[in-house]
Amino acid sequence: MDRKRAGSRYIYRFGHAQAEGDGSMGEELGGKGASLAEMTRLGLPVPAGFTISTRACRFYLEQGAMPPSLEEELESALGWLELEQAQRLGGERDPLLLSVRSGASISMPGMMDTILNVGINDTNIDGLAVKQNVTFALDSYRRLLQMFGSVVLQIPKHAFDQASEGVSRDGEEASLRQTILSFQQLIEHRSGKPFPMDPRAQLRQAVVAVFESWNNDRARHYRRIHRTPENGGTAVTVQAMVFGNYGVNSGTGVGFTRNPSTGEKAMFAEFLANAQGEDIVAGIRTPMPIAELERTMPRVYRKLRTVTSRLEAHYRDVQDFEFTVQNGELFLLQTRAAKRSALAKLRSAVEMAEEGLISRTEALLRVTPSDLEEVLSPQLDFGNVELQPIAKGLPASPGSAVGQVALTADRAVELAGKHKQSPIILVRQETNADDIHGMDAAVGFLTAHGGATSHAAVVARGMGKCCITGAGGIVTDEVAGEVRIGEHTLKEGDWLSLDGSTGRVFPGQLTLRPSESFDNPFLTKLLYWARACSLTAVWANADTPQDAERASHASAMGIGLCRTEHMFFAKDRLAHIRSMILASSPAARERALASLLPVQQADFEELFRTMPGLPVTIRLIDPPLHEFLPTEVAAREELAQARLQGTDVENIQRLEELLLRVQQLSESNPMMGLRGCRLGIVHPEIIVMQVRAILRAALRVKAEGILALPEIMVPLVACVEEVRFLRKLIDATAANLFAEEDLFGQEGRRIGYRVGVMIEVPRAAACADEIAREVDFMSFGTNDLTQLTFGFSRDDAHKYLDTYLELGILKHNPFVTIDREGVGSLIRSAVRKAREANPDIKIGICGEHGGDPASIAFFAELGVDYVSCSPARLPMAQLSAAHTSIARAPVKSQQEKVPHGLRLVEGASLSHDLPSQIPSVFRSSSPSAGPTSLA
Ligand code: PEP
Ligand code: MG
Repeated sequence: MDRKRAGSRYIYRFGHAQAEGDGSMGEELGGKGASLAEMTRLGLPVPAGFTISTRACRFYLEQGAMPPSLEEELESALGWLELEQAQRLGGERDPLLLSVRSGASISMPGMMDTILNVGINDTNIDGLAVKQNVTFALDSYRRLLQMFGSVVLQIPKHAFDQASEGVSRDGEEASLRQTILSFQQLIEHRSGKPFPMDPRAQLRQAVVAVFESWNNDRARHYRRIHRTPENGGTAVTVQAMVFGNYGVNSGTGVGFTRNPSTGEKAMFAEFLANAQGEDIVAGIRTPMPIAELERTMPRVYRKLRTVTSRLEAHYRDVQDFEFTVQNGELFLLQTRAAKRSALAKLRSAVEMAEEGLISRTEALLRVTPSDLEEVLSPQLDFGNVELQPIAKGLPASPGSAVGQVALTADRAVELAGKHKQSPIILVRQETNADDIHGMDAAVGFLTAHGGATSHAAVVARGMGKCCITGAGGIVTDEVAGEVRIGEHTLKEGDWLSLDGSTGRVFPGQLTLRPSESFDNPFLTKLLYWARACSLTAVWANADTPQDAERASHASAMGIGLCRTEHMFFAKDRLAHIRSMILASSPAARERALASLLPVQQADFEELFRTMPGLPVTIRLIDPPLHEFLPTEVAAREELAQARLQGTDVENIQRLEELLLRVQQLSESNPMMGLRGCRLGIVHPEIIVMQVRAILRAALRVKAEGILALPEIMVPLVACVEEVRFLRKLIDATAANLFAEEDLFGQEGRRIGYRVGVMIEVPRAAACADEIAREVDFMSFGTNDLTQLTFGFSRDDAHKYLDTYLELGILKHNPFVTIDREGVGSLIRSAVRKAREANPDIKIGICGEHGGDPASIAFFAELGVDYVSCSPARLPMAQLSAAHTSIARAPVKSQQEKVPHGLRLVEGASLSHDLPSQIPSVFRSSSPSAGPTSLA
């Protein structure tokens, strides 16, 4: 290709193994044009043609006229093509016919327009018939009139349906001739002008129409949904027609080099004999599985396999291809990276890395955290009941959807509500590009027709929604607002449940249960690679041994936050904590605490057993004590009832005391009240009990031969004196405990532990250097830090946050994604100060933001050692951490840690992947930075 001329020319030719463009020119040639050029260069069978660049489209859209030099270029390209094909556009015998197709640089399947068979007119129709037969020629003309009429002249499609309905059925040829006549009349009647008989006029108008289709409603809507820039424009590819409608030895097909729904490595394609391309994608006719082609045209089938495998190897990605078979000869019309379900993305990425086609780094980058969220999305819960589906179709896009039936795109939008608050299942005979807004509003799609490559299927996989296509026995009646599914009749608004993984349809509103995909072997492998190349470790927040079990299963590298008070809320513990709060004397309080200790100790033991050799961060009591007591209203009510019923005096006295204590503990602003470290300073005996329980638990499991790494975390500190006070108390408590005789035998008398703080108050962030000198670690409690920095209550902010987001006052909810400018800058400076003051300090994040991909990227940039999130979010967080590490240290993570082609052995000693050994954050510290409070 003459690269130097790029920028001044608008047309690029391709044909007979030579092309003026190549696959890297997607911006200029659009995806389709670039792929045709590339395939031509590869020597693959591609009909010759040329592509008019996206620049020409942009010029046209901006100026309202074609670029001046285009006309000349077009004539010259046409002349060249006529020579190449040895045919003439408008020729009377065997005329050159053209396809005119759209193709933007970003794939927008089916959203813009295509016109086939350009070049037929009343005078050359007989000359065309000579090439094959009369029926073929007439069928092609009919198609041209219909496409030209609807795309170029904007005549609604249904007008053509109506026009063809009135046609008599006496013989195929006669009825086609009548259809052509009635389409011509329709065109003249609606547009005021006859159908242009001049093939060059047809071509020019078709090119303009394709340019203009960039701005049609569905293309605009598609770009809005997919956040695609508005100014790209589309290229137009003009190509010599090949005909799938020549008869039984011909046909058209679309396919994928791997299954787009499951990712399985097996060519997945569909074929329609004696048809033209749009018939499949529009979902009007349900195509045959590709096995049919294998049976009827084995040679073509074998060639298709060879050619498409070559395409996949060349592009190093799953390909979505379109082909036509003309009289037993195979032609490729398009190839592009396949839109596939999240499950298919995951599986194909992992398998391609294992095949050596891509590196592990590329595999990691091909899957996004939201893909994983989709893979792990809930499934239909059948309980123990064997439910009978009312219909079964093709599992075109996996996942599950439960929602209310809508039969048109507009109804789907209406029923879903402004904020898509109601889940909707869009049920259609088939979908087309005009349904895109309804598909956006719905949670799943069900269609009567269409295969796994139909419009509905392709869009669903792109949107990550569940979809079942080709479910026979479904008849929709949009006017009556009803759909018949087998023997069932459902009305719009009735509930329906879809199982997109098996293609089964169930009536009613089934419940959803958590996914079982956590054990998906491809997920396991990808996350193993993710952890291996992550520079930021991912820990889990776990309040109970069950949470810790889930965290361990998902390979969390530690527990970053155990909210001990959550253990107190369990029924059997609440009584103990209440008697501690209500105790009338220090001795009574001591007794109550003594009864709590074994309960807490047992819980901690379980945590340590679940996370052997990994840090377990236990936060000392945090919430205000009144949270463990009933509300004042409830306490009053209970007392009044007791008095009314005349229960015994002792009970009434107890309830009076309870009410009094509730009143005493009541605060007008409890979130800023007696909580966090303040509670421990006012009631040190609680801290003593908790520290003893933690260390006794660690010693007990140590005696069992399990390495426990307790990290004791003090919440809500604001000033260094609080930290000093509590650290002294913790260390003294530990020293006293270790001094006790015969604790768990000689071996069990000492255990290392760390003491750290949560940075949740802006003042603590400002004084992070002073605080850092007193502790071994600090963990940012970004929930409270966000609350206190903004002055937004975390419990009530939703009341105004929606308005803030709608008005654009905030770009995102700061409780979900970290506010980089405000809260984030506090964290940034606190991390810097803390590291300067104490280079060995370990720094983590344990607020909700620790599981949010966008926030993880930010924290990783700041160089925190770990983020901690709920066990359910671990896979997404592990992948985000890997992505960030790859972006930050491409050389290190791509070449040193996951080199191309190197196979990692499970359990290999990579610093961030040590399932049961000492975690890297411990190992990487200097010897003096080991547990500082080692007794
Ligand atoms: C935090 O404030 O970020 C935190 C982790 O603590 P909690 O959510 O328990 O207040
Ligand atoms: Mg907090």
